[in-house]
Amino acid sequence: MFDLIIIGAGPAGISAAFEAKKHNLTYLVVEKGLIGNTIYNYPVGLTVFSTVNELEFAKGELKPARKKPTREELLSYYVRFVLENELNIQTEEKVGTVERLNDHFKIVTDKAEYESKSVLFAIGAMDYPRSLGVKGENLPKVHDQFRETYPWVKKRALIIGGGNSAGEAALFLAEEGADTTLAIFRNDWESTDPKHGCIKYWVKQPLEKELKKNCLKLFFLGKVLEIREDEVVLENENGEVETLQNDVVFVLIGSDADLTMLKKLGVKTENGKSGEVPVYDEETFETNAPGVYVAGHFTNHRHIKEAISVPKKIVPKIAAKLVSSMRTS
Ligand SMILES: Cc1cc2nc3c(=O)[nH]c(=O)nc-3n(C[C@H](O)[C@H](O)[C@H](O)COP(=O)(O)OP(=O)(O)OC[C@H]3O[C@@H](n4cnc5c(N)ncnc54)[C@H](O)[C@@H]3O)c2cc1C
Repeated sequence: MFDLIIIGAGPAGISAAFEAKKHNLTYLVVEKGLIGNTIYNYPVGLTVFSTVNELEFAKGELKPARKKPTREELLSYYVRFVLENELNIQTEEKVGTVERLNDHFKIVTDKAEYESKSVLFAIGAMDYPRSLGVKGENLPKVHDQFRETYPWVKKRALIIGGGNSAGEAALFLAEEGADTTLAIFRNDWESTDPKHGCIKYWVKQPLEKELKKNCLKLFFLGKVLEIREDEVVLENENGEVETLQNDVVFVLIGSDADLTMLKKLGVKTENGKSGEVPVYDEETFETNAPGVYVAGHFTNHRHIKEAISVPKKIVPKIAAKLVSSMRTS
């Protein structure tokens, strides 16, 4: 019987594991992919936008070569942190169900079954990439993730999306010699409101340079009509239909968490800033299902900074609650 099972080994799950160890809890992190799996899936060579102090578990530990770390430097730091602190993390094991049994939980994975007094969901929000729902979207040339640019050099690439991920993919592709078009709503391109999820200025400025050099084309989108083997059919912002020659499409319009396990436990959800989020206590991050906690990207505290800081705040509270329930039982 564990005190705490943590589902997911992203920044939130790693931070929670470190706190659990510090507070002498018996704990286990179960991760379906690799340590820091979401970061592992960032584009190769990406420089992240957060500052060092927002990304590290303890001050001064992350030492990038430049001002901000690359994907590789960040991932290496997270992996080293897990290894050096001997955190109890099992990778490549997917949690399938969590069931309440009287005063504790049964956690069933694709490899084993565990029992725990409490469960922290740190599952991120990458499970369901959003799709356009248009004909041809299931063709092999259509991707919902951008990993690297070199397969697409000299190819006609279309990126659909209005946020930083789409902007960064367009930049990588344009800079490294793909014939690149970014299809974006005019509002998303022109917005400077950070809450709108727009392309941040440090991505937009180099994109504008690529535009000037004619290495990048912008397409102000009305909607995507169809994706075909070697072309895409788009409607522009004026309602006119245009057909572009095309070799590869990246649909980068965000993704959503899989809340199925939480809902089966009776956890209520509501509409948050970026979609459906679980309802939880802002102090303890406990949901309406007692003993079920949430942290990280699928809550209203989406960035790595909070994915790390929230477990630091709530795991000591979970530990104190377990101690007091032991005393009363
Ligand atoms: C390209 C890109 C760049 C970004 N740059 C930044 C940035 O600069 N700064 C910033 O703050 N944020 C950035 N983000 C967002 C950032 O990645 C998230 O905020 C962060 O990963 C949240 O951490 P987390 O631990 O909550 O979730 P995640 O890191 O997503 O971790 C969740 C983990 O849970 C695992 N999991 C899910 N379901 C199960 C299951 N059933 N069983 C077992 N394991 C499961 C997943 O495999 C995953 O490893 C970026 C995102 C992208 C895509």
